[in-house]
Amino acid sequence: MRIGGCKSSQENHTKKRSLQIKSIVIGSLFCAGLLLGGCAANAEPQRYSTTYLDVFDTVTTVVVYDTEEQHANDTMERIHQQLLTYHQLYDIYNTYDGINNLATVNANAGIAPVEVDDKILDLVEYAISMDELTGGRMNIAMGSVLSIWQDYRDAGIDNPDAAQLPPMDELQRANAHAAIDNILIDRANGTLYITDPETQIDVGAIGKGYAGEQIISDLRAEGVDQLLLAIGGNVCSIGSRADGTGWKVGIQDPYSDANLCVVSVSGQNVVTSGTYERFYTVDGKNYHHIIDPGTLLPSVLYDSVSLISSDSALADALSTGLFSMPIDEGMALVERLPDTEALWVLADGTQRMSSGFTAFIVTE
Ligand code: ADP
Ligand code: MG
Repeated sequence: MRIGGCKSSQENHTKKRSLQIKSIVIGSLFCAGLLLGGCAANAEPQRYSTTYLDVFDTVTTVVVYDTEEQHANDTMERIHQQLLTYHQLYDIYNTYDGINNLATVNANAGIAPVEVDDKILDLVEYAISMDELTGGRMNIAMGSVLSIWQDYRDAGIDNPDAAQLPPMDELQRANAHAAIDNILIDRANGTLYITDPETQIDVGAIGKGYAGEQIISDLRAEGVDQLLLAIGGNVCSIGSRADGTGWKVGIQDPYSDANLCVVSVSGQNVVTSGTYERFYTVDGKNYHHIIDPGTLLPSVLYDSVSLISSDSALADALSTGLFSMPIDEGMALVERLPDTEALWVLADGTQRMSSGFTAFIVTE
């Protein structure tokens, strides 16, 4: 089915070269300095907003409504601290003093189990379940394959004239160590162990969505009932805006700077993965960052996949997993999942969506 409410994306197939934030949160007022409202308690909740640049290598925005400025600031500061905690634990590139994180686990592959925070075990356990749900299309044990692509991409971006594709035999050698069973969770001892020294974990497909889900679940349990948390393109919401209308989230047209459409959510989460986010060019052809585990090449089926779901972690996992799944299989999967809808932009520019997606689309 073609989407009625979304603009055609076939007109302009010029891909953008810069790294972009996927979804644009459309809000009325962003106040980075947290200076809205008066000093004392107000009868009417005021809107407070802030932005963080130091977590998950992206721009993170929080919007809350509160009757007290100090209380709003405390909430936002707590969210920032939690984001920093998840960022450090899920970081595969850097280690931090006094913390065993996923970089520590990767460094100990084939050497020893590593004692880690439950937040890591929970993420990895969830990611393993998502590997199963997506038929291996979203596989966090593919780190060695993904890092080869990343090295070639980084080199190609630094020096476009010398950009090259990774040799297939190198990718295949790495892929021989991408079995999800090589990751062992030991709950009793609180450890994570990669049994094969050549296997590496990469949670780029799921870390932000999983962290967002945990943070907003905790906030909900504390009684927060109206909040938006956008970790880059991973947008999480609790409730609606103060006036009772939904949070409006723009879904980017993969072929232009415009929105494909705008969705309005109240308590749902919106996540988009797109070929335009991270890519490099070899011999005039673009190669993006979502790798099909079947071909070990960038997935060729879609230019973007957007999810709306009551679960931000599921939405993030599927935004990557559906990317390498044929449309009929992906559609059937989304249709059988509760509270989950998807919008696919196929590589020919046509659009498909699950049966409940249009209900979220609003005019800008
Ligand atoms: P982002 O918001 O960072 O673009 P996505 O949810 O689109 O994240 O996931 C892309 C990232 O996931 C890649 O940068 C890479 O780290 C990782 N990745 C790419 N392909 C796969 C895959 N098939 N399975 C698991 N992880 C993947
Ligand atoms: Mg994802």
